[in-house]
Amino acid sequence: MKDFFLVLRRFLGPYKKYLILNVSFNLLAAFMTLFSFALLIPILEMLFELKTEEYALMPMSLDNFRESVVNNFYYYTQTSISSFGPSATLAFLGVVLVIMTGLKCGVQYLATYFIIPMRSGVVRDIRNTIYDKVTSLPIGFFTNERKGDVIARMTGDVAEVENSIMQSVDLMFKNPIMAIACLTMMLMVSWKLTLFVFVLLPLAGWLMGAVGRKLKAASLASQNQWGRIMSNIEETLGGLRIIKAFVAEKKVRKRFHDESQVLYRLNNRVMRRQSLAHPMSEFLGTITIAIVLWFGGNLILSGDSSLSAQEFIYYLVIFYSIINPVKEISRATYAIRRGMASLERVDRILSADNPITDPVNPREISKLKGEICYNNVSFSYDGEVQVVKDVNLHIPAGATVALVGQSGSGKSTMADLLPRFYDVVSGSITIDGVDVRDMRVTHLRSFMGNVNQEAILFNDTVFNNIAFGVENATQADVEAAARIANAHEFIVDMENGYQTPIGDRGCRLSGGQRQRLSIARAILKNPQILILDEATSALDSENEQVVQEALERLMKNRTTLVIAHRLSTIRNADLIAVMNDGYIIESGTHEQLMNKNGAYTRLVEMQQLNK
Ligand code: ADP
Ligand code: MG
Repeated sequence: MKDFFLVLRRFLGPYKKYLILNVSFNLLAAFMTLFSFALLIPILEMLFELKTEEYALMPMSLDNFRESVVNNFYYYTQTSISSFGPSATLAFLGVVLVIMTGLKCGVQYLATYFIIPMRSGVVRDIRNTIYDKVTSLPIGFFTNERKGDVIARMTGDVAEVENSIMQSVDLMFKNPIMAIACLTMMLMVSWKLTLFVFVLLPLAGWLMGAVGRKLKAASLASQNQWGRIMSNIEETLGGLRIIKAFVAEKKVRKRFHDESQVLYRLNNRVMRRQSLAHPMSEFLGTITIAIVLWFGGNLILSGDSSLSAQEFIYYLVIFYSIINPVKEISRATYAIRRGMASLERVDRILSADNPITDPVNPREISKLKGEICYNNVSFSYDGEVQVVKDVNLHIPAGATVALVGQSGSGKSTMADLLPRFYDVVSGSITIDGVDVRDMRVTHLRSFMGNVNQEAILFNDTVFNNIAFGVENATQADVEAAARIANAHEFIVDMENGYQTPIGDRGCRLSGGQRQRLSIARAILKNPQILILDEATSALDSENEQVVQEALERLMKNRTTLVIAHRLSTIRNADLIAVMNDGYIIESGTHEQLMNKNGAYTRLVEMQQLNK
């Protein structure tokens, strides 16, 4: 329960107004319940003709408020009986009871009405906070977390928090108020009986709690499994083409069904455990009522003057009204335990720390020249295997430097260190002499443009994809960029030109078209530093020609780090560095390296053989 209030403290801040309204209306409803049921006493008394004294109208005053209200109520009832008869009076009292209850229900609805925006608001806030967090976390975080699991946390777990914790907020405010009001009234009617009840209730509560404790663990296991299933779905949708090509449908189906089966078992366990709440509280409730009946009945039978029969009936009615809130509280605590498990999973994302931080005193470069230095840089993804080893590389402003080498030799890693997708483990990288870690991350990245092997496009129009990194780009800007990227022709051939949607990840375009769009995007951003990671290697040679042309225009007058698979495309680079197993083993211009007849020459020869 402590957790629950901590959660409220965390999220309810902006919704205090609603909470106050909710509590006020709940208080009102509680009082109305007590008073409408109090009408039962005179009704019963009239039925059984228990009251014989004559009542006279009393002046109302604050000193004897309760006494005068009760007295005058009896007075009016008596006058009504003598002038309209007992039957009409009974009917009249019944109508009053109905109206009071109607009012009470209306007030109860108002209480719920005001808590709803809070409930949905908190869920919206959590969802937005996770999205913001996900976009701020470094790329490295998502290689450790499975994408599907992150999606599961953003959707399923947030929904679970809504269904369990937020739905319980209503119950957790309404019911304690009701319970306390009833309890107070019970104390006023008969403190002896109530003291007796006080001993029983905590006992029942403890029993209920024992079952609830196991619920959270089961729930956590179930949500984790749900994450695994989402990962599986995500992977399947991404790999559908391969699954079909390799006729692996049966295999993936079996894998999915197995995961589903695990979830099925876990869910059964959670729901069975949660369903215990209802029968258990019902059973315990009945036991308490039986005991109270026995104890209270004995009080009356023994002639104890503190409790009359009709008061006892009223007492039982209130006691019955306390059972329901207590039941709902117990159900809510069960639901909250389930929700807590989900909230823990959500918090794993929210509390993940971001090692790529802005410095306390960031340095700004107002006029960037674009000289890049890797100084004794080493890097490891996992803290064990070194992927980049003590590398020194100098890229003069405006020069083009190419990294070549076998796949897995660390080229892409080198490129990722520059915009701080990862931070170096030792050594440093400087731009114009300033360590990249001494700049604000956004400032640093504003100088850079990326074109990768897989063009990453968004499900939007051509125009918006090109203008992605630039605020307020005009049609003319975008068109100019597209022309340089050799993309203008094919764009105007599309049915809506620049306003044509390109589909999920650009799936309605060919590989070369996608790549030219991503080049146009980089051109429009006009970065001083350009990182090209195998930008043409996914293309056929005809497309490659067109894209290569676009790239060469893009590289003009910029500092460029180019990673190339096809060596023919980097022949003119100012410097070529050959990487092997994390080291730079050779560097120089194409001619120098060819004359050396070393690793580079062998790479070139191998490619010529393959042609
Ligand atoms: P290249 O681009 O030259 O093909 P990479 O820089 O992508 O090589 O990879 C270098 C090495 O780092 C490889 O052995 C690869 O397995 C490893 N590696 C790459 N990315 C990750 C990652 N996110 N986590 C762990 N290891 C990685
Ligand atoms: Mg690579």
